[in-house]
Amino acid sequence: MTDLLPNFFFDPTKCFIGGRWVAPLGGDYLPVENPSDGTEFAKIPRGQKADIDAAVAAARAALEGPWGRTPAAERGRILTRIGQKVLERVDDLARLEAMDVGKPLKQARADALALARYMEFYGGAADKLMGETIPYLDGYTVYTLREPHGVTGHIIPWNYPMQVLGRSVGGALTMGNACVLKPAEEACLTAIAFAKIAEEAGLPPGVLNVVPGLGEEAGAALTSHPGVNHISFTGSVPVGQLIQRAAAQNVVPVTLELGGKSPQLVFADADLDRALPFLVNAGIQNAGQTCSASSRILVDRKIHDEVLARMAERYTALRVGPAVADLDLGPMVSERQRQVVENFLGDIGSAEIAARGSIQSDAPGAGHYLAPTLVSGVTADHRLAQDEIFGPVQVIIPFDSEEEAVAIANGTDFGLVAGLWTADGSRQMRLARKIRSGQVFINNYGAGGGVELPFGGTGKSGYGREKGMEALYGFSVLKTVAAWHG
Ligand code: NAP
Ligand code: MG
Repeated sequence: MTDLLPNFFFDPTKCFIGGRWVAPLGGDYLPVENPSDGTEFAKIPRGQKADIDAAVAAARAALEGPWGRTPAAERGRILTRIGQKVLERVDDLARLEAMDVGKPLKQARADALALARYMEFYGGAADKLMGETIPYLDGYTVYTLREPHGVTGHIIPWNYPMQVLGRSVGGALTMGNACVLKPAEEACLTAIAFAKIAEEAGLPPGVLNVVPGLGEEAGAALTSHPGVNHISFTGSVPVGQLIQRAAAQNVVPVTLELGGKSPQLVFADADLDRALPFLVNAGIQNAGQTCSASSRILVDRKIHDEVLARMAERYTALRVGPAVADLDLGPMVSERQRQVVENFLGDIGSAEIAARGSIQSDAPGAGHYLAPTLVSGVTADHRLAQDEIFGPVQVIIPFDSEEEAVAIANGTDFGLVAGLWTADGSRQMRLARKIRSGQVFINNYGAGGGVELPFGGTGKSGYGREKGMEALYGFSVLKTVAAWHG
């Protein structure tokens, strides 16, 4: 696995606070595991409340210093420079991520490129969000200003560390906030690397602070901190609920990007040759550890057996192995996550395993490998069709009418993404409105990542929007100025 050994162009044992690389105040560290072979290859700080206190103070100082007066165009220029430097480091970042979370190299590379795109997109957007003048009473001029919240807290998960960092921190910096980032314990390396890149690109001290550590320690300290003015959280529903409660104490707004159980609806008139790769990829990409994974395939009963057979054929060809082998799937991020998925598969009741991919025979025994699994004979209320599994498992469910398809699609607690496969234009328009989710894709799924496309949930998938221009409303606060001049 040595050919993956990342180039540490930064010090992974340090927090980045106030523009300085500092050891965690408590002197504790966490091991970094390579999920492809179970080895430990680095250590990262186990940040605590004291480190978060220092980071929030540094962010506040930055806001009160030059950053608070930096023109939007200059903020944009800095973000654009960060994006360029990310591009120069794409291969280093990809190797780092592949080693840290087990992503196949091509996926890790796509994530690094997306991080660069977020910086480019938001760099260009920084001076494009405008206020309004509002017609009002005689003798008044009224206008609105978009101002930063102040200090923004960012808690991100391990599944797409670079992408979520990019969309969350990118949007916040664009609007002139100062950020404190607590990456996920299993995936801190690219966040620390990003801080180094941002420093090299000239981001002023204290504007971005990174404190690695555990959720219940550094994470909880950040989300309950009275000096934080906005929280952007991406992760699970239970932790999202905890964060909402913590934020309520300080009455600060929260953006929650939570889980999903996203369906793809396949009608009898669908172009199956086009649909098939999307149907499967949307379930197994990143070993199914994707918030917008399509874990439910709803199929018109008339073509159910054909779709099942064609998906099964693809599943049988899927190969799982170490990140460096760059196959269809890498390992799960951790043994804990692998076990979560095994537990689901150990209790499928009357459902049937229709097909599985295969783990390469030379994959290291200590890696957290799991063969992707297609399950048929599942009813809409089955646990596998209701709960987020967060692994490479898809269920296929037949429907008999458009109404039933919509009812099944909308019949979970979640509502993040949906896919529609049909040639009927009226049905496309009708269902795009009826489906309860934050995004609907018609005759595609995922649309190539979509930095530009607003993203977020309904129901227990959360609220607020990140990505695209829409995110910038969430990362700012509107002020109305009413001037009387007679
Ligand atoms: P998680 O367990 O909720 O963790 C997410 C983040 O929250 C991590 O940084 C975690 O830190 C931190 N955390 C845990 N407990 C905390 C607490 N008490 N206070 C503050 N922070 C705390 O989720 P995960 O297992 O990493 O990620 C999987 C979940 O994320 C899935 O449900 C997935 O659907 C969702 N997700 C959603 C999106 C989206 O955009 N909608 C994108 C990606 C993932 P530690 O891990 O270090 O403990
Ligand atoms: Mg790791």
